[in-house]
Amino acid sequence: MKYISTRGDKTERGFSDILLEGLAPDGGLYLPTHYPKVARSTLAQWRGLPYNELAFEVLSLFIDDIPAADLRAIVDKTYTPAVFGTREITPLKTLQPGLHLEALSNGPTLAFKDMAMQLLGNLFEYELARRGETLNILGATSGDTGSAAEYAMRGKQGVRVFMLSPKGRMSPFQQAQMFSLQDANIHNIAIEGVFDDCQDIVKATSNDLEFKRRHKIGTVNSINWARLLAQVVYYFAGYFQATRSDDEQVSFAVPSGNFGNICAGHVARMMGLPVKHLVLATNENRVLDEFFRTGAYRPRGSAETFETSSPSMDISKASNFERFVFDLLGRDGERTREMFKAQLEKQGFFQLSPAEFECISAYGFVSGHSTHADRLATIRQTWEQNGVMIDTHTADGLKVAREFIEPSVPMIVLETALPAKFAETIVEALGREPDRPAALQGIEALPKRFRVMPADAAAVKTYITENT
Ligand SMILES: *Cc1c(COP(=O)(O)O)cnc(C)c1O
Repeated sequence: MKYISTRGDKTERGFSDILLEGLAPDGGLYLPTHYPKVARSTLAQWRGLPYNELAFEVLSLFIDDIPAADLRAIVDKTYTPAVFGTREITPLKTLQPGLHLEALSNGPTLAFKDMAMQLLGNLFEYELARRGETLNILGATSGDTGSAAEYAMRGKQGVRVFMLSPKGRMSPFQQAQMFSLQDANIHNIAIEGVFDDCQDIVKATSNDLEFKRRHKIGTVNSINWARLLAQVVYYFAGYFQATRSDDEQVSFAVPSGNFGNICAGHVARMMGLPVKHLVLATNENRVLDEFFRTGAYRPRGSAETFETSSPSMDISKASNFERFVFDLLGRDGERTREMFKAQLEKQGFFQLSPAEFECISAYGFVSGHSTHADRLATIRQTWEQNGVMIDTHTADGLKVAREFIEPSVPMIVLETALPAKFAETIVEALGREPDRPAALQGIEALPKRFRVMPADAAAVKTYITENT
């Protein structure tokens, strides 16, 4: 399998070549040259496989430059009950006949990002060792992504993480999750500023090409193809749990921000998984809902991006969205470039032609949105009727899912985080604190390891130089 860019550069690269990369050199995103098709007979063979074996089968279709035995070992050590809490790894919880939650949040940081990031950590360690190289991951976080990256990379050979976070602005729980890590290769840097200051420092450092090259600076952001690929697996796992035969269809509802999670669902569907609808759910930041309803894509600036109670979906520009648009436009890289570069960068939006807009339904996408009041009502209803406590992002997904339930098509809502991460809204909805997994009780009291720095790229660069 080879990979090409969404912006017309047809240079074909292997999986291992793009594993450690972000954007393609022409500014596009990487996608496989084609989607491998999974026949019904193959689905029948995969049904009943344990998660790690299913993951190996799916990944093997996209990765042909890692020997099979090595890939199997990487997958086996990633998807274990010890790391993800259950034998099924992503078990279904049935709320009512035909409506399920797929649990993706039982990894170390209690959010679905662990599903992909844990694999990425093992793939990075493997590939860096194979090349005799090292990598210094520099990132900015306001919570979820940074902790998932740190828990994936802790103790890994050849990798160091430098994670910037705005001092005093994360919840005590999130801060404790990150700052309590004592691994020598994890560097938490609390910046005296806000999240945007952290991001500006990362940008300034990455734009210093000489520094970037000398210190082997990389990232693990959501456009990484391997992260997306890892997420394809749980669409298959959810399908097998919700159906008895491979003639049945299901729909998935996905709380969306950067369009990474639902893009993996799109890939699974393109491979032939019988998915009727991909239900995209947004919160008050409705940019993607607007696109699927009107064909107009108009990302908002940070000033127009609302801070909501489902913060991991407070995204102004959905970084993986270009991948779907490339497929929608018949994989026309020139047209994709013209929309994302010429139109978006110059006028701030693009609009599909009526004929292009028509095509969306062939890809199964529908969409809706949810508000803070909807989240509270959905959390309350699910607790009272089903005795299940859900987090605010999952509530966005469930609220919109209910608008698209059809008889005889099971609806699977992806649970993207545990309520323990968003205690404040749970208290508002239910008048009680969420339960916390036993291993995380009292983590706020653990010793913390972090460094405070001014919002100054030069100071951060000096620190990196001294510690690499
Ligand atoms: C990251 C995240 C999302 C959004 O996922 P995307 O892949 O960015 O669309 C939703 N919910 C939670 C809890 C997340 O951490």
